[in-house]
Amino acid sequence: MPQNDSKYWEPELETLPRPKLEALQLERLQKHLAFAYLNSPYYRQAFDAHGVKPSDLKSLEDLSKFPFTNKKTERDRQIAVPDLGDMIAVPEKDIVFVSASSGSTGVPTLSPFTKKDFDDFQNVESRQYWSIGMRPTDRYLHALNFSLFVGGPDVIGAQNLGALCIWGGTIPSDRLLYIMKQFKPTITWTTPSYAWHLGEEAIKQGLDPRKDLAIRKIIVAGEPGGSIPATRKAIEELWGADLYDYYGLSDIFGSCAGMCPEKHGLHLAEDNILLEVLDPETNEPVPDGTPGEMVLTTLLKEARPMIRFRTGDIVTRLAGDCPCGRTFSRFEVHGRVDDMIIVSGVNVFPSDIEYVVRGNSRLSGEYRITVYTKEHLTKFDVEVEWANGSSHTDEEILIKDISQQIKTRAGVKPSYIRILESDTLPRNTHKAKRVIDLRNENS
Ligand SMILES: [Zn+2]
Repeated sequence: MPQNDSKYWEPELETLPRPKLEALQLERLQKHLAFAYLNSPYYRQAFDAHGVKPSDLKSLEDLSKFPFTNKKTERDRQIAVPDLGDMIAVPEKDIVFVSASSGSTGVPTLSPFTKKDFDDFQNVESRQYWSIGMRPTDRYLHALNFSLFVGGPDVIGAQNLGALCIWGGTIPSDRLLYIMKQFKPTITWTTPSYAWHLGEEAIKQGLDPRKDLAIRKIIVAGEPGGSIPATRKAIEELWGADLYDYYGLSDIFGSCAGMCPEKHGLHLAEDNILLEVLDPETNEPVPDGTPGEMVLTTLLKEARPMIRFRTGDIVTRLAGDCPCGRTFSRFEVHGRVDDMIIVSGVNVFPSDIEYVVRGNSRLSGEYRITVYTKEHLTKFDVEVEWANGSSHTDEEILIKDISQQIKTRAGVKPSYIRILESDTLPRNTHKAKRVIDLRNENS
């Protein structure tokens, strides 16, 4: 274990110069493809059908010759070959843990781990916790779901680091606040909307989260809020704590990437996972700084290698070095491919609109986007609300400002912006329906 004052969990690895890191990735990838081909019936058949062999990979770029996988591949193979599917590459006796994700179709896809996979996974978690400043002196409250969810075991990474861990799980907010009062945890992990909700609940109970509770760092994942500066700042002010965004997917690890103290993009665990950012239409790589679909390939996972897994998430790989000294790539998440609206050839995401709306103190932060077709062109309107008590003066100037900021962020202006009275738009605590798509209803 590193000294408490070390910035890094694994100093040499985390700061490896890119050429050395890429050489390590290439060596691991060659071995991993050969392992998958030899041991997984699915990959053998898929590579053969595609006319590629593991030995065809001479450089990282050669990965583009190999076939993609996605959520549907996982589900189909699991149904075709019960119970664990034929993407797995080890006998069941070597599997020690499975998580499951329900997905939208109701067929849960299982994610298996060997003992080594699980240890690698938890080492990545320890490294991410260390990078945000968790130390053995911290008390950590893990407030994620333990039931089949791959984020549940992430608590073990904190325990391995030496923090005092409280296995909270998803329990009612009054119980969670009781734990926060009684055990005085200094760090917790939840979703951004729950962090906000819990802070407000604390205030309702007469507690000041900044003074009466000991939380100084909050990890969030599962929603875009943690990477939207205005949302992050609002939660940070409510709690008097630093907020860090993490990204994970059940198909690989509970968390595969996380913010460092710079809070500018998420560093991917590139010693374990290879990143491609591709144009979702052409499947060609996009330059750094340009949004594209995140495609991930595991480098070490034995139980079920994931080769060229299309995540369906649109991200931008950030150009340049991070001041923290870590050389692992950083990315920002924009949203799901399915949420993307193409307007005048430009990809627009609801999170781009949220970025602007939440950043304006005269607005409530709520918004609704309506997408429609007019004269065969896709258009969108945005409705926002006045903040409670905000003066309605200079409405036209404000509308122009918002329009210009959306143009700067998303690359295209909405056709129409309307500011509604406060508390007009529907509120949902969970996934609010903020996009109305009328494109199939008119032309
Ligand atoms: Zn960094």
